[in-house]
Amino acid sequence: MSYADKDGWMWVDGEFVDWRNSKVHILTHSLHYGLSLFEGVRAYKTEDSTVIFRLEEHTQRLFESAKLVNIDIPFSKEVIDAAQKEILIKNKLDSAYIRPLVWLGSEKMGVPKKGNAVHVAIAVWQMGTYLGADKLNSGIRVKTATYRRPHINSTHLKAKASGNYISSILANDEATRLGFDEALLLDTDGYVAEGSAANFFIVKNNTLYTPETKNCLAGITRDSILEIAKSCGYKVSEMRLTLDDVYCADEAFFTGTAIEIMPIVELDNRKICDGLVGSVTRELQEKYRNICHAKDPKYSHWLTEV
Ligand code: PMP
Repeated sequence: MSYADKDGWMWVDGEFVDWRNSKVHILTHSLHYGLSLFEGVRAYKTEDSTVIFRLEEHTQRLFESAKLVNIDIPFSKEVIDAAQKEILIKNKLDSAYIRPLVWLGSEKMGVPKKGNAVHVAIAVWQMGTYLGADKLNSGIRVKTATYRRPHINSTHLKAKASGNYISSILANDEATRLGFDEALLLDTDGYVAEGSAANFFIVKNNTLYTPETKNCLAGITRDSILEIAKSCGYKVSEMRLTLDDVYCADEAFFTGTAIEIMPIVELDNRKICDGLVGSVTRELQEKYRNICHAKDPKYSHWLTEV
């Protein structure tokens, strides 16, 4: 199956476009120089409706990403929010991944971005679990990458920008070629940063630890888990973590819109604790799943009805 070859609709610059005809020219600035901005959002099917998880926060991050790289999105946040709902309905999808994308057009070639039109598209497609339901249950094996997250002064790491993903792609490729499921990237000082497309947590003595958002994306799932864990009575701490901390942790997991709450049972061929999914991870997974499926009224403000 190719993502380009299926029936459906794409939202492009304010209009619905036939999925197969949603194309860009080869001389598209973003394609050559790696500057586009995007989001990854999820819609969940609940008992009686479809909801989008933390839609406004995702749209806000998209606009902040654009602001960081001096790009003006030619639509309001309200229009982008509404378009995400409309394109889900148009494609008759209920549990889906939503991908808003902002890119620069083909008016000018060369590094300077001035003079290129800013385009926005929103794609949606059916998405189940990211690495398979069995992995959510049994956990994954992770390798520390030889690639580092870029230094905070080399780019805008808070921007969810395509170019920032080159180190993620290389790290993931390295890990999976060696038979691991995912990679863990360190920052340029050697502290733990994040996964290729996910934030990272450990649990030690019933406290959750996660790196500060200096060298990693300010993940919306990360933020949700911090809040959920606190309300479950766990202490949480955002701080620099070393690999020593991780090797001696009781539990470890990744968080992200696509990967959800993914238990990590091994890092660099060392078992995390006894190599089994821990009870805190399981509890948070269950809570998160219920919240996303509108089964926990306390968090209904995180859900937008489609
Ligand atoms: N870090 C990176 C590099 C990511 O790509 C993602 C996925 N968006 C995350 C962290 C997790 O962010 P979120 O929980 O907002 O999906």
